Amino acid sequence: MKPITCRKCDKGLVKVHGQVCYACRLEEIENNAPDEDATDEEIVSYYTKQRALLGCRECEDKNFGYEAGMKIENGLKYYIMFVQCVKPECNAQYMDLLEIREMRLRDVGIEESE
Ligand SMILES: [Zn+2]
Ligand SMILES: [Zn+2]
Repeated sequence: MKPITCRKCDKGLVKVHGQVCYACRLEEIENNAPDEDATDEEIVSYYTKQRALLGCRECEDKNFGYEAGMKIENGLKYYIMFVQCVKPECNAQYMDLLEIREMRLRDVGIEESE
């Protein structure tokens, strides 16, 4: 049986016809990396998609539970994600620091002037 290749790059192998391979999916996500003006939701959503694709950092299983959020400390915003791997052999639990950004004036409700 002929191996099935990615519909985008035609090189990466996939399980089902019409799928996009891992490298292409990762590239697609990276292309949408949050910029300076990204909202907290956009940042969290970007990293959860990225991490979901990369899988558990212990066993690389894609099937894990997570809770992502943000905490503010000393004028910095820490985007974090708590991961709980559901694979019984792994069962890893860890906190993943996604990104640190400086607080902006609009974060405290003040509009920045041009
Ligand atoms: Zn591909
Ligand atoms: Zn795991």
